[in-house]
Amino acid sequence: MNRTDTPQLIDRFGRRVDYVRLSVTDRCDFRCVYCMAEDMSFVPKPEVLSLEELYEVARAFVDLGVSKIRLTGGEPLVRNNIMSLVRRLGALDELRQLALTTNGSQLQRLAGGLREAGVKRVNVSLDSLQARKFRSLTRHGNLEQVIAGIDAAVAAGFEGLRINAVILKGRNDDEVTDLVDFALQRGIDIAFIEEMPLGLIDEHDRALSFCSSETLREIIGARLPLRALGDPDGNAGPARFYAVGEHPTRIGFISPHSHNFCHLCNRVRVTAEGRLLLCLGNEHSVDLRAVLRAPDYTPARLRQTIVDAMSIKPERHYFDLQDEPQIVRFMNATGG
Ligand code: SAM
Ligand code: SF4
Repeated sequence: MNRTDTPQLIDRFGRRVDYVRLSVTDRCDFRCVYCMAEDMSFVPKPEVLSLEELYEVARAFVDLGVSKIRLTGGEPLVRNNIMSLVRRLGALDELRQLALTTNGSQLQRLAGGLREAGVKRVNVSLDSLQARKFRSLTRHGNLEQVIAGIDAAVAAGFEGLRINAVILKGRNDDEVTDLVDFALQRGIDIAFIEEMPLGLIDEHDRALSFCSSETLREIIGARLPLRALGDPDGNAGPARFYAVGEHPTRIGFISPHSHNFCHLCNRVRVTAEGRLLLCLGNEHSVDLRAVLRAPDYTPARLRQTIVDAMSIKPERHYFDLQDEPQIVRFMNATGG
């Protein structure tokens, strides 16, 4: 495509969409208590986009001016042959940033290859540094394996490496400063994410376990001098970042409850079965798989479907922990 007449993705509220989170699978080797129920039924495999279809979707977005794609899931690194997709996406010249969110279980094996294939930034979820607690929060995770994965990612030299931690009151809120120390020791970033009411879970009561970003910032601020940062490289998204003196580590807080960031929203999500979600907190979506699998499929039709979808991107989301979740899909279906 000729980039000079590339249409841009602009929604009704004048927001430019240049960032796509692409879920490559809804499956996962963990069952984190805030993300999934213990017994999950997953999308039947024929309904999940093939690697070729995922590439077509990514290609369409890049042709529409999207400059950043984050692969997520489920657990992206448990998808069979995922590295072949990563390598193809890494070779797309117009894609400024290929990023990945992972639980880290496969990183020890794959970090070097991901870096070589062109992945620039990696977020690794880590909610506890205590093996038993880590197991109870992830239900299946092995802490040692994940830490080895993080260290392999440090060695691989990504442009950005960040720990994501979801803190639940009474579960891991006593580990906030230990997690910060873990990041400081490695010179990597860390972001604390407020739990979101996605999917019906019965393992805990979300209203009781809620820990606000404000509380966490106070806990950390009581020990370390935090200095608020702007967003110089444009990678913060909905996170607010702080520096600790001259240390390279940045500490971020992602607050879908206490801080509404919808007016800055530059992103859309694609689920593993090819549903284009216009907002994390609303059900507005468009079926891209139907377009991809139509007998008269063309890349131009796919691009037009995406352009048309911008007209239904909602202005904002409303999350309320006291109510039933408005969103019945689980986070693994949404793509984080
Ligand atoms: N499996 C990968 C991982 O865990 O990093 C990628 C997918 S996961 C759904 C993406 C991110 O969403 C993780 O950092 C996870 O902690 C976060 N997450 C999952 N469920 C959440 C919820 N209910 N509220 C807030 N964050 C959640
Ligand atoms: Fe899997 Fe990530 Fe969800 Fe945990 S947060 S269950 S690792 S998809």
